[in-house]
Amino acid sequence: MYDYDLLVVGSANADLVIGVERRPAAGETVLGSDLAVHPGGKGANQAVAAARLGARAALLARIGEDPHGRLLLDAQRDAGVDTEGVLVGGAPTGVALITVDPSGDNSIVVSPGANGRLAPQDVRAARSLLHASRVVSAQLEIPLETVVEVVRNLPPGTRFVLNPSPPRPLPGELLAACDPLIVNEHEARVIAGHELGGSPEDWAAALLALGPRSVVVTLGAEGALVATGDAVSRVPSPVVDAVDTTGAGDAFTAALAWRLGRGSPLPDAAAYAAQVGTAAVTRPGAQASFPTAEEVAAVAA
Ligand code: ATP
Repeated sequence: MYDYDLLVVGSANADLVIGVERRPAAGETVLGSDLAVHPGGKGANQAVAAARLGARAALLARIGEDPHGRLLLDAQRDAGVDTEGVLVGGAPTGVALITVDPSGDNSIVVSPGANGRLAPQDVRAARSLLHASRVVSAQLEIPLETVVEVVRNLPPGTRFVLNPSPPRPLPGELLAACDPLIVNEHEARVIAGHELGGSPEDWAAALLALGPRSVVVTLGAEGALVATGDAVSRVPSPVVDAVDTTGAGDAFTAALAWRLGRGSPLPDAAAYAAQVGTAAVTRPGAQASFPTAEEVAAVAA
């Protein structure tokens, strides 16, 4: 009997957003809007997205002992995420400084802060959480060696899902544990280590050759592609007016991981995840845009 459908091991950031008429050039100062502070970070986002759908979700992350950390913790608890695994201290909470111009283009500086201090020993100390979880997911906004430690400590039968964002070349040991590896086009290119020609089916084949048990390629409004050694299939996204795609990939990954844990075959889990990702693009923001199961049903109808 598992306590959690999904354990997310990853980052938690405060997103500090200022709207500007024009993003500043080097040496320039521009005036902007009032500051908005939002809970973010891929790990925190994915835990919230899963919980909002009804998953029993837990987060293993590190935050600072500061107001940003408290904001993040409150957002997790409000969504119903178990925060027993959220460690406090060691560095300030991770921050993303974001300037956005009227066309929606942005410039972002990330200070990983406490995310960079989530260490392999923190994973070993959280083995009871790993054992209590049906599926474990991770991203790459925490140290790579910490993510590798997750797969080294994965109990038999526990499924591992990796969304390698921001992307970097990955060790074979980590790739071999992924079931699936979830990438967009840019991530696929970096992980493959070379330009990818041809179709998304070809990209997936190139990635499968690196060792993951399965690969999912997200294709924005085009939905997603699912590839295992045996079969390749596409899943569509419902057609909507996209308002803000921030967090769509996080909503997709969380939904897919949760559905896999409930026993769905990978193509079915991806089809549901595409509906969740699409529901998330109909509202602004990241965590604020994540839908409930009822809202997903409305988008899919
Ligand atoms: P991000 O980094 O912006 O969070 P991503 O690049 O990781 O996203 P996408 O492929 O853009 O991932 O989006 C993930 C899923 O969200 C898609 O598979 C799709 O289901 C949904 N989605 C994204 N953009 C749109 C859109 N414009 N219309 C409908 N659905 C969308």
